[in-house]
Order: sequence, then structure tokens, then C-alpha cells
Amino acid sequence: SERTLSIIKPDATERNISGLIIARLEGAGLRVIAQKRVWWKKKDAQAFYEMHKGQDFYKGLIQFMTSGPIVLQVLEGEDAIARNRAVMGRTNPVDAEPGTIRKDFGVNMQRNSVHGSDSPESAKREIGLCFKKSEIV
Ligand code: ATP
Ligand code: MG
Repeated sequence: SERTLSIIKPDATERNISGLIIARLEGAGLRVIAQKRVWWKKKDAQAFYEMHKGQDFYKGLIQFMTSGPIVLQVLEGEDAIARNRAVMGRTNPVDAEPGTIRKDFGVNMQRNSVHGSDSPESAKREIGLCFKKSEIV
């Protein structure tokens, strides 16, 4: 099986719907094998999203991701990366397929409720940034 890094974003924790999102992930066959609620400092968000530096949405993204608590998770399952991205739906909630997390809970292109690693390389990097080995069980 495979592992991926998932984030429940500030727009979702603010509305108290973390549990609804976790139920969707579990329903899709993903297992939460690490989880913690944190409030990122600017430097944490900048390190995580370094690949987006220079994009027009970057500054707003850093501001948003530090605007409230988030839930960091490691998910495990068969094809976890693709499986998670399928249940998340497209980046922009209006483009997301019916029944996906972003379609049902996302507010807009920025406030889209969840993050999921997009490749095995990203997953490895993001999991390493967010969790110690001993926190993944
Ligand atoms: P994520 O990386 O969060 O899983 P993604 O891979 O679908 O989402 P990316 O292109 O990696 O999307 O962008 C990262 C995040 O930056 C998006 O989830 C969204 O919150 C924000 N973002 C991306 N594009 C835009 C945009 N055009 N306007 C506003 N915010 C954006
Ligand atoms: Mg991405």
C-alpha cells in the first residue's frame, strides 16, 4: 500500500466539519495512520508550499493557510495518492465532480477544504515535513 499527506484546511476547521471530511476519507478506503491539529506560522506554510512561490495565488495561499488551525494527516491505502485526490475532487470546487469533498464542502479555488499530495515524491517530502517517524502508527 501507499501513503499520502492530507491537510484539512482552515475553511473546514472553522466550520467544524473535520469529522465529516475524515468520514469521506475513511469511506474511500483510506486509513488515518497519523493525525495532528496545528496552527501554522508563516514559515511553516512557506516551507510546505515552496514550489508555488512566484505564483499569483501564493501570497493569498500563505495567508489563508495560517489564518486558523489545520489538521495534518498521513493516509494509508492502496493507491492512496490517486485515491485521495479522487475523493478530494478538482482544485476549484465548481469543477469538482459530484460527491467529492471539494464539491460538497469547498468554498472557492482557495478555500477548497483539503490538500492531498500529488505524487510519491511530494508525499514523501510532505510527510517528512509534517511528521516524525514515531508519530506515524
Ligand atoms: P492541493 O495542493 O492543496 O492539494 P491542488 O494540487 O489541487 O491542491 P495546487 O495547484 O497544488 O492545487 O494549488 C495549491 C493550493 O493553492 C490549492 O489547493 C488552492 O488552495 C490554492 N490555489 C491554487 N490555485 C489557485 C488560484 N488560481 N487562486 C486561488 N488559490 C489557488
Ligand atoms: Mg498541489
